Amino acid sequence: MSTAKSTIEPTVFVIFGGTGDLNARKLAPALYNLFLDGWLPEQFAIIGTGRTSLTDEAFREKLLADINQFSRTGKAEKETWAKFMPHIHYQVADVKNAASYTEFGRRITEFEQEWKAPANVIYYLAVAPEFFPIIATNIAQSKLGADPERIRIVIEKPFGHDLASAKELNHLLGQHFNERQIYRIDHYLGKETVQNIMAFRFANTLMEPLWNRNYIEHVQISVTEQLGVGDRSGYYDGAGALRDMIQNHLLQLLCLVAMEPPVNFTADEVRNRKVDVLRAMRRFTPEEVRESTVRGQYGSGWIEGKKVPGYREEKDANPKSNTETFAAVKFFVDNWRWQGVPFYLRTGKRLHRSASVITIQFKDVPHFIFPPETAESQHQNRLIISIQPEMSIRLQVQAKRPGLDMMLNTVDMVFDYDGTYTTQAPEAYETLLLDTMMGDQTLFMRGDQVEAAWDLVMPILNSWQQRTSQNFPNYSADSWGPEVAEALIARDGFHWFTLPLSPKK
Ligand code: NAP
Repeated sequence: MSTAKSTIEPTVFVIFGGTGDLNARKLAPALYNLFLDGWLPEQFAIIGTGRTSLTDEAFREKLLADINQFSRTGKAEKETWAKFMPHIHYQVADVKNAASYTEFGRRITEFEQEWKAPANVIYYLAVAPEFFPIIATNIAQSKLGADPERIRIVIEKPFGHDLASAKELNHLLGQHFNERQIYRIDHYLGKETVQNIMAFRFANTLMEPLWNRNYIEHVQISVTEQLGVGDRSGYYDGAGALRDMIQNHLLQLLCLVAMEPPVNFTADEVRNRKVDVLRAMRRFTPEEVRESTVRGQYGSGWIEGKKVPGYREEKDANPKSNTETFAAVKFFVDNWRWQGVPFYLRTGKRLHRSASVITIQFKDVPHFIFPPETAESQHQNRLIISIQPEMSIRLQVQAKRPGLDMMLNTVDMVFDYDGTYTTQAPEAYETLLLDTMMGDQTLFMRGDQVEAAWDLVMPILNSWQQRTSQNFPNYSADSWGPEVAEALIARDGFHWFTLPLSPKK
C-alpha cells in the first residue's frame, strides 16, 4: 500500500524459481509494469535462478515472451523493454547447494560496488514449499540474511500443510530472520477491491453504525472457479479446497469484513485486529463439523458446449481420490459485534462461473408500513462487494417503482471501478512486490495469523480425513456445487445468492 514513488532504495530481487510458472505469469509481468509506471529505482537488479542452464540473454528472451503473453499492459514496447532488460540476470543454482549462495553474495556485492550504495535484497521463494526450509537456512548460513533492515524473504503459498507444519516453518524462519523480514504472501490481499474493503469500512461514517449484529443478518463469501484442476492434480490432491482456499484467501476476506477498526493504518495494528477475528472464531467439535461444513468433488459434465472430465479422471489424478474440490463452511465470530451472525463461506472448482463476491445481508425493516401487496417485491438491503471478475461495490436498496401505484423495487447504488476510473487497476502482485521493496507488511500474513487460521480449520481437516466421503463425485461440472451445500444454508432460512453477472469470465 505504497504512497510515494521516491522511497525505494537500491534493490536486488532474487527469484528462486526464476524459470517457473509463477515467475512467468505473475512476478516478471508485475516487475515490468512497476518499471513501466516509474516505481523502480535506477539501481535495481533481478537475479532469476533455477537448475535449468540459461544465459542472461536466454533468460531475458524467456521473460520477454512471458511478459508479452501475461502482462496486463499487453506486449512490451521495444524502447521500454530495452531499458528494462539490462536489469535482468540469471544464475544457475540448485537450492540445495550451499555454494550457490556464496555466488549470490558475490553478485550482490558486485551490484553494490557498481551502485556505490548498499542494496536491499529480497529473496522471493517461488518454488515448491518443500524447498522453503533449505533456502531459508542456506541464506542464513551464508550470512546473506543478517541485516534486518535490508534483507527480506518472501514466502509463497502454501504456508504449511496443517497447524504443526506451519508452526514448524514459522519456528525455522524465526531462527534465521526477524518477523519484520518475513513476507508471507496471500495474493488476495493485494487485489484492489480487497484493499478497498478497509477504505470503505474505515474512511466512511455511513457503514460503521450498521456494521454489527443489530443490523446484519448474515454474510456470504463465495470464491468460485469455472476451471477444473487441469494438470495440477499432483499438487491439488494433497491439498483440497479447504487448505487451498478457505484456510487463507476466504478467511482473510472474512477478517477484513469482521475486524474492529485498527488505531492506525500500520502493518501491526491492522494485523492485530485481523488476528483478533481469527481468535474469536468458534472452534468446531467433531459433531459441529458434520452440521456446519459440506465438502464436494466434481464429476464430469459440460461447460460451454465442451465435455470436461471429472476430478478423478483428470491427468495424473488418483481415480479413488477423497480430496474435496468444493467446501462450504458456516462460521461464527464469538464477540460483541458479531454474536449470532453466521458467516457462510464457499469455494469450489468447475462451478457455473468464476467469481469472488462478499455479500452482506442486512436485517429486514422492523415494521412494514406499505400495503400488503407491495410486500412481495420488498427485499432486505444487501451490500455486494464484487472482487473479481467484476470490481464493484453495490448497495441494494428499496425504492418506489415509477407509476401511479405504490410498488417497491430493488435498485442498486453502484461504485464500479471500470465506470469510475479510467486508469487500469494494478495486478495484486504489483502491489505486493512494491510493498516488499518498500518494507510495508500490512498486506502480508504475520506468523500468528497463519497459525490462528490453521488452528481454526484443523478440526474440519481432521474430521474429513477420518471419514472417507462415500458419495464423491457429488456435483457435476457447471453446477453450483453439491445439493448439501444448499441444505447447509437453507436450514437457517437463507439461500446462496446468485453471483452478479459480468460480461467477463
Ligand atoms: P513450477 O512452475 O513447478 O516452478 C518451480 C521452480 O522451482 C522452477 O523454476 C524450477 O526451476 C525450480 N526448482 C525446482 N527444484 C529446484 C532446485 N532443486 N533448485 C533450484 N530450483 C529448483 O512452480 P510454480 O507454479 O512457479 O510455483 C512456485 C511456488 O509458487 C509454489 O510454492 C506454488 O504453490 C506457488 N504459487 C504458484 C502460483 C502459480 O500461478 N503458478 C500461484 C500461487 C502460488 P528448474 O526446473 O530450472 O530447476
